[in-house]
Amino acid sequence: MELTILASGSKGNATLISTADGGLLIDNGLSCRELYRRLEMVELNPASIQALFVTHEHSDHIKGVGILARKMRIPVYIKRSTLAATRNIFRGDEDIRILEEHNEVCGLVVSPLQVAHDVVDPCAFLVSDGRRKLAVITDLGFPTKAVQHELGDLDALVIESNHCPAMLRNGPYPWFLKQRISGRHGHLSNIQTGEMLREHLGEKARLVYLAHLSEQNNEPELALATAQSYLEHRPQLTLKVAGQYEPSATESIL
Ligand SMILES: [Zn+2]
Ligand SMILES: [Zn+2]
Repeated sequence: MELTILASGSKGNATLISTADGGLLIDNGLSCRELYRRLEMVELNPASIQALFVTHEHSDHIKGVGILARKMRIPVYIKRSTLAATRNIFRGDEDIRILEEHNEVCGLVVSPLQVAHDVVDPCAFLVSDGRRKLAVITDLGFPTKAVQHELGDLDALVIESNHCPAMLRNGPYPWFLKQRISGRHGHLSNIQTGEMLREHLGEKARLVYLAHLSEQNNEPELALATAQSYLEHRPQLTLKVAGQYEPSATESIL
């Protein structure tokens, strides 16, 4: 399977996972026009997208879901509680499918993984092609036991590395927002992510993308250096950073 992170951060998220049969998009916080532009940049055809999966109802993840589903006539996989919490996204004529424990699209099995975040029922996703397993895990305040457990069996991972704790503490955000971001239902810091990877990432993992970086309270080089410092003895592991404004190069998870 192939992984392309089209956008990552609080201004919009979209991750494409594809096979020769087509692909699925995890979240879409981009306009159709911007999504298509980015797909074109990485030479991917929008028509290959067969389904949309939704992690939670924050607008940076769901803003572009309804319109893309209508335009492309593709199904949206979403939790019932998340669907009930969305506002002004769906018109009623979309093909909505309530997430099951295992969902099959394009020869991939997609499974939700519960995370802790400040919405009704947030999840991350595990995606398997039968041979390799990938997880896309962002928007979580702390790594739950379930998240820690799943990290042991992954070939590739997209993981939040949202903020540098010192930059957040000394930065311009109001107190309540600092509390929200650093709290148990907010976002993982570079240090939390590094510790979690060191403790729980399995030996077969070859690729880790650091994602959902804060523009105000982080720097790509800092997130990367922090993660590297926790993963010094893993030469087989490639670490990369996903961006907000440009798609990442497509990675093959073979
Ligand atoms: Zn988010
Ligand atoms: Zn969120």
